[in-house]
Amino acid sequence: MQSWVLSANEADSHFPIQNLPYGVFARKGEEPRCGVALGSCIIDLAFLEAEGLVQAADEPVFNQPQLNAFMSLGAAAWDNVRSSLQELFRENGNPVLRESSTHCERALVPMAEAQLFLPFQVAEYTDFYAGKQHAMNIGSILRGPENALPPNWLHIPIGYNGRASTVVASGHDVRRPLGQVKAPTAEVPSFKPCARLDMELEMGAVVATPSRMGEPISVQQADDMIFGYVLLNDWSARDIQGWEYQPLGPFQAKAFATTISPWVVTKAALEEFRCATPPREKELLPYLHEPGPMLYDIELEAYLQPEGAASPTRITRTNYNRMYYSAAQQLAHHAIGGCKMNTGDLLGSGTISGAEKSEFGSLMELTWGGKEPLQLADATSRIFLEDGDTVTLTGWAQGNGYRIGFGSCSGTITPAPAHAPVSKLTQEA
Ligand code: MN
Repeated sequence: MQSWVLSANEADSHFPIQNLPYGVFARKGEEPRCGVALGSCIIDLAFLEAEGLVQAADEPVFNQPQLNAFMSLGAAAWDNVRSSLQELFRENGNPVLRESSTHCERALVPMAEAQLFLPFQVAEYTDFYAGKQHAMNIGSILRGPENALPPNWLHIPIGYNGRASTVVASGHDVRRPLGQVKAPTAEVPSFKPCARLDMELEMGAVVATPSRMGEPISVQQADDMIFGYVLLNDWSARDIQGWEYQPLGPFQAKAFATTISPWVVTKAALEEFRCATPPREKELLPYLHEPGPMLYDIELEAYLQPEGAASPTRITRTNYNRMYYSAAQQLAHHAIGGCKMNTGDLLGSGTISGAEKSEFGSLMELTWGGKEPLQLADATSRIFLEDGDTVTLTGWAQGNGYRIGFGSCSGTITPAPAHAPVSKLTQEA
């Protein structure tokens, strides 16, 4: 399928008509509203809905700054809008937009003129630890290879409840956190800016339809509840994490920022890229069995660009298919004890690392705990992130002649807050 909107030189676009990912956008001075990316344009869904050219529900759902209302409608409404859009924008489809330049101008906003926002209101955010190579790497660095995997790891998709309040869209700066740290050799902890600031390359699954409190869900039901996927950078303060994480897991080390890409790529667009999770090393309990392939073949990359550097350096290249657990398994496990899941819940996959060093998804692994500096294109090197560094994630599923792309997910590190308020408090005390 081809679209009359894309020109011949957009053949490698992340947003062909096979994709149609959802986001929230506005031009300067306009109200943010829902849109769909197509080539270098954004389809204004609020306009199409007002004109009666797409209809998701009886009431309008697209003239608002979040996708939650649309997502909560479920699969029939999603399919309906997707086919209307393909009919309006494919070659030889419904000519109503193509043949009216005034309609066309209202319906298609150049992406270059628009600002993109957080695509949905994040209800709650949970981050998992479901990549086996990542868990092996981190465990080996911290505890040695014999004790790398915790005894529960091959039986449970391990996760922790994170913070929705600091999930931000690509382009938002990330302030270096302050926190309590203690070096192994130090007698007492100290309070200072994080010195081991890291990124984590992950995918985020977006929960669209809710579950009921006290009611378990199956893996199939969990898969049905997922609207789509985003790129996710789970920024991590390793020195703060090292001191605080036992016995309840990360707290401040992960609470200061999580960045997601602005376009939610739908499950419908990813359908043909489904693949199975790798063979089980231990038989899973039946409630975690997958009835079909629920992982996806998605190429992933991360880039690091120091402030002032001429170009970014690719620091890793991996694939979402490396995960041991799928998002559907994670979601089923999340709800199995009776936890209610809501529209807008975001599930981080866990860091996605492949077997080779060039496929590791965090600096902690790429520099092996800070021992092996990473060389960058501008002849500098990194152990962890420095102020002014920009980290950009990107990803796509490679189809036959087109890409289902995720766009990019970027954040720049800014300096830690001054200590002043803390010392003032101390003096007053
Ligand atoms: Mn993580």
